[in-house]
Amino acid sequence: MASELCKTISVARLEKHKNLFLNYRNLHHFPLELLKDEGLQHLERLYMKRNSLTTLPENLAQKLPNLVELYLHSNNIVVVPEAIGSLVKLQCLDLSDNALEIVCPEIGRLRALRHLRLANNQLQFLPPDLGRSRELQYVYVDNNIHLKGLPSYLYNKVIGCSGCGVTIQVSEVKLLSFSSGQLTVFLPAEVKAIGTQDDHVLPLQELAMRSLYHTYHKFPKDLNFLSPISLPRSLLELLHCPLGHCHRCSEPMFTFVYPKLFPLRETPMAGLHQGRTTVGFVAYCCSTQCLQTFDLLS
Ligand SMILES: [Zn+2]
Repeated sequence: MASELCKTISVARLEKHKNLFLNYRNLHHFPLELLKDEGLQHLERLYMKRNSLTTLPENLAQKLPNLVELYLHSNNIVVVPEAIGSLVKLQCLDLSDNALEIVCPEIGRLRALRHLRLANNQLQFLPPDLGRSRELQYVYVDNNIHLKGLPSYLYNKVIGCSGCGVTIQVSEVKLLSFSSGQLTVFLPAEVKAIGTQDDHVLPLQELAMRSLYHTYHKFPKDLNFLSPISLPRSLLELLHCPLGHCHRCSEPMFTFVYPKLFPLRETPMAGLHQGRTTVGFVAYCCSTQCLQTFDLLS
């Protein structure tokens, strides 16, 4: 088996193959043969799904510098090394069905990245730097049950996120909802009230949360010193992790939002979805001013 693998790789090296299929090989380690000498400088697509890899080599970008697509679906990868950020030509990265808990921020350096697949992992959050990848169009994070929110910078991407944040077991009937035309959107359970164009004053609780957040955000590493202030545990947790940020001005929001619904066919993303969904895009704003001035094209 091992010699057959070596032969496959050396043929690919000698004949300068652009595609290499190493799916279903029972690999526990990244094959050293791929990293030998100058590596495979011509390789553009590497398929390694359904193996047992737990990590990736640090010198991946050095040995396979022209990779455009990398398929690592169904392995046991826990950590993606920082070196992934050096695969400058990478357009498609599939890390679905692994054991990822963290995605390193260096992934934001992949400026050519268009498709990112991270479904069925253990992610709790996505790195802020991901938003720098201007080419990024498709992000799939379905079934990361601990992922309770998505960064607002992903608002104009095609997102797959079903089965995320399911630890909150609230039936949709109990959730707040709002409607626009024929579309009804249920809001996350943390949202306690919805603002309309006529509500110019925020609830006191929300005002207090925003003030506390700004007061203590200078020390984001350790909000525990807040303990002298007696906040209910649920609000203290919310203070660590806001419900979201205003799509217009990035102000954090905790229990109160001003939603604005855009039917998908009216948005610039309609073409990307190619008619596969009628779901609208919901913008969450922090104030009536932001509600009135937010536009998808702005
Ligand atoms: Zn705002």
